[in-house]
Amino acid sequence: MPRKDTLLILLFVLQAASTLAGRKVPESTVLTTDVAIVGGGASGTYAAIRLREDFNTSIVLIEPRPYLGGSVSTYLVPETNTTLEFGVQSYLRYGPALDFFARFGIALRPFASKRLTTVNIDVETGEQLKDYLSPNINATNEAFQRWLAIVSKYKTFLEPGYWNFPLSPDIPSDFLVPFEDFAKRHELEAAVPRILAISGVGYGGVRNPITLHLLQAFGASLTLDMLENQMFVPTGSNSLIYQRAHDFLGPDVLLSSTVKDVKRTSTAMTILVKQRDTEYIIKARRILYSAPPSLRNLSPFQPDEKEAAVFSTWAEDSEFVGIAKISCIPENYSINFIPSVAVPTNYLALKVRKDWPYSIRLDSTGPPGLGLFRIIVGANYTLSLDDVKNLVLEGTKRLEDAGTVTEECGVEFKSSSDHSRPQWKQTAEQLQSGLVQKLYGLQGYRGIWYVGYVWGAPYSSTIWAFTDTVLLKLLDDIKTDKSSSQKA
Ligand SMILES: Cc1cc2nc3c(=O)[nH]c(=O)nc-3n(C[C@H](O)[C@H](O)[C@H](O)COP(=O)(O)OP(=O)(O)OC[C@H]3O[C@@H](n4cnc5c(N)ncnc54)[C@H](O)[C@@H]3O)c2cc1C
Repeated sequence: MPRKDTLLILLFVLQAASTLAGRKVPESTVLTTDVAIVGGGASGTYAAIRLREDFNTSIVLIEPRPYLGGSVSTYLVPETNTTLEFGVQSYLRYGPALDFFARFGIALRPFASKRLTTVNIDVETGEQLKDYLSPNINATNEAFQRWLAIVSKYKTFLEPGYWNFPLSPDIPSDFLVPFEDFAKRHELEAAVPRILAISGVGYGGVRNPITLHLLQAFGASLTLDMLENQMFVPTGSNSLIYQRAHDFLGPDVLLSSTVKDVKRTSTAMTILVKQRDTEYIIKARRILYSAPPSLRNLSPFQPDEKEAAVFSTWAEDSEFVGIAKISCIPENYSINFIPSVAVPTNYLALKVRKDWPYSIRLDSTGPPGLGLFRIIVGANYTLSLDDVKNLVLEGTKRLEDAGTVTEECGVEFKSSSDHSRPQWKQTAEQLQSGLVQKLYGLQGYRGIWYVGYVWGAPYSSTIWAFTDTVLLKLLDDIKTDKSSSQKA
């Protein structure tokens, strides 16, 4: 016979537990909050600080990685105790960016990219493509002035988000034409190598995708800040702001945590989260979703047909960045693997799938004497980290075999980060059928609000500005059900 006090304890444990998907968790791991934020990158971290500190709204931030910062990747060089940025490089002076750094006491300085000698290499043979002619500085600047006039004209549709995006038939025809036609008509070709290098857009080729995707990826604010040399970096490292935000948010952040299951109504969310061996149940009024919106990531949120129909239109690209020690390439060089079809000045062919299914660049980073390179690899199909390492090994081996380098090519991978995520690649027909309006129609639907790179110009500063527009609507939404429950 169990003793009476044992029975009482058992009864208490049963009462002091919450259940989701048949899982019971003790009351100590049941968290009640206004907003559960999913994803702790640029948009999620910014939203957490703004909601809690400026709008007196409680939050729990759920992030699968063991740190905040998303696309920021900082490598600490042990030999010199200095840092290298191999993810996000620099910031635009747009929207709330300067204030956000200032609130954490982080000083800023102008961004200056390292001057490197670029060598263009035939991706198939490893030989130097001596006949490929990079556009000269005047041609590049003139093309960018034309690009600036175009992106400025469309800025209100695209920055910081797509709230004002027109419905068909008012979508500008420029948005819907294949980029090759548009670039030739406006003589933009000389701007293309830099657009591709800075934005990373165009895995799988830029000829056929509609012009909208390039306007999204390289919009007015980026073009202007680039032309006027206005971009900046924080002193210290790009990770510093996220470390400080994390210190500040303290226990409201669940790192190394994944959402396993969600029950949603439009006003109440119950979210099962796993952090190592601990399971939490989070009871929230709303979810703010800031992670890449792939159907895979969204599956625990149990999207209905309306949500799945929109999110299934995104194509997942692969994008990896890393740091490696490469013995055969001299320091201060950038090795750019391109297809020979780009010779002599076919800039629109720099990323054409049938000629070149993936993209590799190896940029010397310093500090001097260590032989370190930033690796940037992308493709419009799925790559694993091992695939990426193999591509780099094969690429450097080809340099050696072709006699382009004289040293043996040892490659020692130091650090890497997977930034693969769904990309805007939809067709003109999808746009004309109201895709953007359907996407934005999901804001607040069944209790989820969304922020992040998919929803507007995809740079940290524009993303923070867009997040502000969503937070106001989210707070109104919460206020509405508070006031209706008071009336009831
Ligand atoms: C290599 C690279 C370089 C870039 N360089 C710059 C630059 O120099 N300047 C600039 O302004 N922008 C740059 N960007 C653009 C950058 O994407 C944005 O600035 C910004 O980081 C995007 O913010 P976000 O919140 O949408 O996504 P992220 O900052 O990427 O954050 C998304 C977060 O969601 C988390 N997550 C992923 N899956 C899940 C899941 N299933 N559940 C919960 N959370 C999940 C991720 O771990 C991540 O923390 C760069 C992007 C890349 C990939």
